[in-house]
Amino acid sequence: MDTVTTIEEVREAVRGWRREGLSVGLVTTMGYLHEGHESLILRAAAENDRVVVTDFLNPTQFGANEDLSTYPRDFDRDRDLCENAGAALFFYPEVSEMYDADACTYVDMDALTNELCGLTRPTHFRGVCTVVAKFFNIVCPDRAYFGQKDAQQLAVIKRMARDMKYGIEVIGCPIIREEDGLAKSSRNTYLSAEERAAALCLSRAIFVGKDMVEAGERDAKAVLDAMTQIIEAEPLAKIDYVKMVNFDTIEQIDTLSGNVLCAIAVYVGKTRLIDNFIVEGIE
Ligand code: AMP
Repeated sequence: MDTVTTIEEVREAVRGWRREGLSVGLVTTMGYLHEGHESLILRAAAENDRVVVTDFLNPTQFGANEDLSTYPRDFDRDRDLCENAGAALFFYPEVSEMYDADACTYVDMDALTNELCGLTRPTHFRGVCTVVAKFFNIVCPDRAYFGQKDAQQLAVIKRMARDMKYGIEVIGCPIIREEDGLAKSSRNTYLSAEERAAALCLSRAIFVGKDMVEAGERDAKAVLDAMTQIIEAEPLAKIDYVKMVNFDTIEQIDTLSGNVLCAIAVYVGKTRLIDNFIVEGIE
């Protein structure tokens, strides 16, 4: 695996692969990698001849009072994980490489971003779309892999790729969890022992909600009420949102049909955690 820091080095590597007729997969990350990221890289390596992993703490997707300055970092561990998972290129750019000092162009969308995390984090998805568009332009992959862990982001990137005619297949990959159910996240490292135990209310609520839907419940409120009760029973947890939306449009629904995303965001202490389940093709 080669480690590079400049856009030109990435373009050069990809040009070489393309001359050989090789396919290219892309996994974008903010670093401090865990088995969730690893699952995307393994899948990309299984489905493409070469895999590029980006490791970039993207400042434009953080709000002013969010955790950009405290976000965990571990360059050596990240690089080893990528190499062992089968990546061919590890792209680790400085902020100045990705954003010119006078950069004034953004990628944004009118729909999908005004609900769920977009309400609490109004500039987040503009930052995500902008940086992912840059990575798409730099790498020009055949396929790009995103975790269902960030389900709204997955829906947003799928729509961006379609709207902007990238011709890149955006592939969603399942949520990887700790053994006790907590969705793996770089932010789990912020949790104290007591908060780590309290954080299990998220996955407990998700599993109960999913069971209800799989058992045939179609009333969104009934499912959301049961989930809310579980989270509210945990004194350290404070709900940001517990919502049911159409997965393709991210619009709230009262009755479950089609592709449904049930998404939650909960503060455990000061740490904001997210989790979700998706049920597709409900009649
Ligand atoms: P991040 O570094 O948080 O920006 O995440 C990079 C990619 O890894 C995104 O596509 C995430 O959705 C994905 N990801 C993060 N955590 C998980 C997880 N627990 N399971 C599956 N994918 C994940």
